[in-house]
This record gives sequence, structure tokens and C-alpha cells, in this order.
Amino acid sequence: MAECTDLSISPSDPPLAAIALGSNLGEPLRQLRSAVQMLAQTAGIDVLAYSPWYCTIPVGPPQPNYWNGCLIARVQLSPWALLKTLQRIEVHFGRQRQEHWGARTLDLDLLLYGDRVITTAELTLPHPRLAERPFVLVPLAAIAPHWRHPLLGETIQTLRERVGDAGIIAVLSDDAGETTFATAADRLLPERH
Ligand code: ATP
Ligand code: CA
Ligand code: CA
Repeated sequence: MAECTDLSISPSDPPLAAIALGSNLGEPLRQLRSAVQMLAQTAGIDVLAYSPWYCTIPVGPPQPNYWNGCLIARVQLSPWALLKTLQRIEVHFGRQRQEHWGARTLDLDLLLYGDRVITTAELTLPHPRLAERPFVLVPLAAIAPHWRHPLLGETIQTLRERVGDAGIIAVLSDDAGETTFATAADRLLPERH
């Protein structure tokens, strides 16, 4: 499994899914890395790449800073089965649903599933707030810049450039093993391999 691979995404069959990971309670980085491992060990989920981890300022009620990242997986589960799997892993890490957008040990959001569009309360695809969130688009653009949003018709890189880096404080690459504090946009996106 590679970190920071510049996948030229063609969301074909079996479909690719993009998943956002976030945590700001307990030991966020440990939980996020363990969640990647749990997903990678789940039947029907083949994790292809995951992003660096980004420390971000929380949106919502006052709470600790978040660590956020994204991963891309080839999946042989339906979108609904994949969502259930994500929710099971959240519960495994002690996720409790209290305040709206409140602090949590682990949040796993299904961002994209191929080019599927689904609009139900249980599952909305693409994730309805994907295009407005730097803390999602910055990590996602690091691994899937060419993936096209199926409703907006624009690439993740274009959407990421539009939202900028507001709220992103630092980036930590598991490969490089060092934390870089964000002062400029060009320091946030790892070089493509
Ligand atoms: P946000 O969705 O704004 O990031 P959140 O992650 O804090 O907020 P949760 O409390 O984790 O929201 O989830 C609320 C509900 O959203 C869940 O019960 C889930 O069924 C539903 N949901 C709808 N679409 C999705 C999706 N694409 N990914 C994850 N959950 C979704
Ligand atoms: Ca979320
Ligand atoms: Ca969620």
C-alpha cells in the first residue's frame, strides 16, 4: 500500500471508493492509522493509497484540532455495505454520536463511489459537503487529483484549488516521518511520484 500515489483515477469496475478519515479524541493518529489497517484487512476492500495526515482547525462547536486524511480503495462491496463497514469501524474505535459535528474518536465518510449519485438520508453520494471542505479536498487531491466529481463535472484538484487551505495547520507524512507546518499552499501538496 503506497502513500501519496498520484493515481490517474478512472473509477471503473470494480469501482473505486474515496473515504475521508478524521479524529480529534483519544489518540487521533494511532486511531487513523489503525483504521486504515482495518479497512485494508476487510474482505472486498483493497486499499490502494492513503494521503498524508493533516492537522486542521475544527468546524462546529469548540473542540480539539482534528487530524484528517483520505484513502482510495478498490471495493467489491455495495455503497451501502461499505458505509455499514465504515460505521462498524467507527464504533470499534469508541465513536459516540452526541453533538452535531462534535468531537469524535473516528469519523469515516464515504466521499465518492465511482461515479455513483445517491440521494437518501442514510447515504448521499458524492458526500454533500465534499466540494466545500479544505480538510477533505487537500488530502484527497494528494492521492486522486484527476477524479471528477460526478455532479459538478470538475476534478478534485480544481475543487481543491478553489477552496484553498483554510484551517490546515500542519501536514505529517507517514513516509517521511516528519511534520511540516503549513505556511504556504505549495508546501501542502506532496510532490507527485
Ligand atoms: P458530515 O456528514 O457533515 O461530515 P458527520 O460526519 O459528523 O457530518 P455523522 O454524524 O458521522 O455526520 O453522520 C450522520 C449520518 O450521515 C449517518 O447516519 C449516515 O447514515 C449519513 N450519511 C449520508 N451520506 C453519507 C456519506 N456519504 N458518508 C457517511 N455518512 C453518510
Ligand atoms: Ca464527517
Ligand atoms: Ca460521518
